Amino acid sequence: MRCRVCSGLLEKRITDLPFKLGDTSIVIVKGLPVLECLQCHETELEHTVMVRVEKLLASVDQAAELEVLRYAA
Ligand SMILES: [Zn+2]
Repeated sequence: MRCRVCSGLLEKRITDLPFKLGDTSIVIVKGLPVLECLQCHETELEHTVMVRVEKLLASVDQAAELEVLRYAA
């Protein structure tokens, strides 16, 4: 799999990523496995990871301005 921006090589990494939820909420997901481009540092999520993140985000209380979740494999 190659970077969709620059076609560089992607490397698997574990990182923390913020996701915006609605107008005011931000959810930070920690320990997230991503693919990061070695050249431009664009990050991509594998489909299975994305599906899991969407489920996590759906369970968040949207009244909270900031929520920190841990991605559990
Ligand atoms: Zn790239």
